[in-house]
Amino acid sequence: MTSNPVFIPGPSNIPERLRRAIDIETRDHRSPDFPALIGPVLDDLRTVFRTERGQVLLFPSTGTGGWEAALSNTLSPGDRVLLGRYGTFSQKWAEMCRQHGLDVEIVDAPWGAGAPAAAFETILAADRTHSIKAVLVTHNETATGVVSDIAAVRRALDDAAHPALLLVDCVSSLASMPFEMDAWGIDVAITASQKGFMLPTGLAILAMSPKAIVAMQAAGLPRSFFDFTAMLASNHSGGFPYTPPVPLIVGLRESLAMLSEEGLERVFARHARIAGGVRAAVAAWGMSLCARQPQLYSDTVSTVLLPPGADGRALIDHVYRAYGVSFGVGLGELDGRAFRIGHLGMLTDVAMLGGLAAIEMAMADVGIPVPLGAGVAAAQDHYRMTRGTALKIAA
Ligand SMILES: *Cc1c(COP(=O)(O)O)cnc(C)c1O
Repeated sequence: MTSNPVFIPGPSNIPERLRRAIDIETRDHRSPDFPALIGPVLDDLRTVFRTERGQVLLFPSTGTGGWEAALSNTLSPGDRVLLGRYGTFSQKWAEMCRQHGLDVEIVDAPWGAGAPAAAFETILAADRTHSIKAVLVTHNETATGVVSDIAAVRRALDDAAHPALLLVDCVSSLASMPFEMDAWGIDVAITASQKGFMLPTGLAILAMSPKAIVAMQAAGLPRSFFDFTAMLASNHSGGFPYTPPVPLIVGLRESLAMLSEEGLERVFARHARIAGGVRAAVAAWGMSLCARQPQLYSDTVSTVLLPPGADGRALIDHVYRAYGVSFGVGLGELDGRAFRIGHLGMLTDVAMLGGLAAIEMAMADVGIPVPLGAGVAAAQDHYRMTRGTALKIAA
């Protein structure tokens, strides 16, 4: 039992207000009250995706299910898709494409770099027959702590005058970092309930452009549970095609209220400020981030490269056992060589200082040479210099 916050990049900490909101009696999803719940939630989500023209869909699932829903509703077997791979999540998405019988052209970028927009443009410009049906990118690579420039990917499509759909994984960025579905010309955006929305796992949340809705009519991949046509038709009449996870939808309504009370711009600024303190701590430890340049630094997760010889898994195991605090291990090619600090959702500067203090103690315990307090002091300085008015969460 621990009452410490988690510092993993999802699931994120569930605020007390949301825990209370989801603790409800059974509600009948066929009652006349259900449309008044689902309608406003779908509508308000459009504000968070920053889309006026898009349609939002909810499925009982996770982000991974959201990928499957996005692929199966917009593509046909054998379709050629272009995918940027620069971490574990983009890699897993590529595997799913193959499993669905898509012809995936992978453009690799080094781990620590972002979506390869220039390489995309070359490939798209050469594809004169428009055989590429979709471009797939991960906005925030949770393995490397890199946020990609989606507007640049959009420009690559536009400069090549290519009609492919743009599918974007925003699982670990939406509601935490700026995201612009319409302005970036995104056709399908995919997220889940347990990251920026601060809820338990269990909902895949998608937004679709009108162009994606048109593509859906011709898409031939098999789909049943994730069929958008059935979902849109049910939602249109205020219902759901099967039993919806009502408590999570009630929680999502409350989460949207919290985000709107704080204001999305302030939510983003809080994430940027907390991340800034983490980065100051990492620099004070004499370590570096996996992300190669400041414009790629994620405000929701920092992937910290450890000095040679240090064992990242042992560190994360130790900080959990000794201090009851969860951090993320290095994934994929960073296994053992890095660890990840998740700083998304309901966090404050003060909570973050506790996390930094705990990981410093653990580093000292396992023999990673960091003077106690060095990172904490650097983060304190950052938080003192950038402080505004403390966040007050209405209960
Ligand atoms: C968490 C995450 C996912 C996977 O979501 P699940 O809900 O675990 O299925 C996909 N992409 C990114 C970038 C993520 O951070």
